[in-house]
Amino acid sequence: MLARNPGLANLKAGYLFPEIGRRRREFAAANPQAKIISLGIGNTTEPLTPHIDAGLVEGARRLGTVEGYSGYGDEQGMTRLRERIAAALYAGKVAADEVFVSDGAKCDIGRLQLLFGRGVEVAVQDPSYPVYVDGSVLIGAAGAWGGSGYAGIRYLPCTAANNYFPDLAQIPANGLVYFCSPNNPTGAVADRAQLTALVAAARAKGAVIVYDAAYAEYIRDPGLPKSIFEIPGARECAIEVNSFSKPVGFTGVRLGWTVVPKELKYASGESVWADWNRICTTVFNGASNIAQLGGIAALEPAGLAEMSQITDFYLGNAALIRTALGKLGVPCIGGVNAPYLWAHFPGSTSWEVFAQILEQCHIVTTPGSGFGPAGEGFIRFSAFGHRADVEEACRRLLGFQRGKPAAAASK
Ligand code: PLP
Repeated sequence: MLARNPGLANLKAGYLFPEIGRRRREFAAANPQAKIISLGIGNTTEPLTPHIDAGLVEGARRLGTVEGYSGYGDEQGMTRLRERIAAALYAGKVAADEVFVSDGAKCDIGRLQLLFGRGVEVAVQDPSYPVYVDGSVLIGAAGAWGGSGYAGIRYLPCTAANNYFPDLAQIPANGLVYFCSPNNPTGAVADRAQLTALVAAARAKGAVIVYDAAYAEYIRDPGLPKSIFEIPGARECAIEVNSFSKPVGFTGVRLGWTVVPKELKYASGESVWADWNRICTTVFNGASNIAQLGGIAALEPAGLAEMSQITDFYLGNAALIRTALGKLGVPCIGGVNAPYLWAHFPGSTSWEVFAQILEQCHIVTTPGSGFGPAGEGFIRFSAFGHRADVEEACRRLLGFQRGKPAAAASK
């Protein structure tokens, strides 16, 4: 019989969101009268806006005509979309042919490690978006789960003590560093000085940064960088993944991109850009042509205005949650320039607080410990929700009593 990929065997059972779903269903079955509100998963909830939606509709309409029909396109994406991303979102700091359009940032994060293989040492912010770790485990870059982390993964704690920015001395030499800003789950946003230090550290260590900017469009403070390529020297040491999911609600449409600069080289001097081009043309067949026309519409002036409206809406939700947590006296960060809030409940485990909030307020949150060892004792609140639901959730949160035992708190 064929042996199983050891990477699969090493994956820790019970991915965070299925486990949350299981507990939610269990609670709903036992409490059928409860109107559960989710401030848990980072899924968008609002309908597409008119100009962007019209782009998608037009894309679908064209496919039904002889003149407009297209089959497979370039694996790297439509030239018009690549050009528009480079111009509208990077102000020309990256070239159109350095932009590789994808079916989403998560999919690209999963494919990216094909560039570096199984021998590479990986560092992640702790807590972090789970795919950086699980993708590394799948490809064999990390060993088995050891209770508080995977062997072969360096967890760089991001806590109140270091202002949620990791100790850069811990970046592995010749390793791969995943860095997400605005951060999921903490909502922390790295400033220019911090990113300058990150780039300097990566270059000094011969490391490559995979910079996840999926929430860049939530940044309102003009002084905060939206891309790693705003930092001098990043073109020699960084790859950026990004997405249309959170800025315009394409979570189900599926469209993202990865920027690989031509200056980025392996130790051997060979081009990472050339290899990424090769990987994209080998295991990927291009993003949906309909979705790409939606992406082009999103980057036209009317689409960019809609993008601001959508992100403003979710930031409005975040402000409401922040106010409610403030009234409760719960210390938290995020929710400004980011759609997530990271709330601290010292002295309790994340799953205990998750269960208490579910039981008392009928609100689903995300336990911070699911994002890494340093997330223990924290809860992530997501600002993705209908306004009326968020307002109702905030009202309920005001009645939350910390530490009141919850029968469901089994972990
Ligand atoms: N990166 C981060 C940090 C995310 O939080 C998410 C989704 O929640 C993604 C990437 C996934 O983006 P996409 O929908 O483009 O796959």
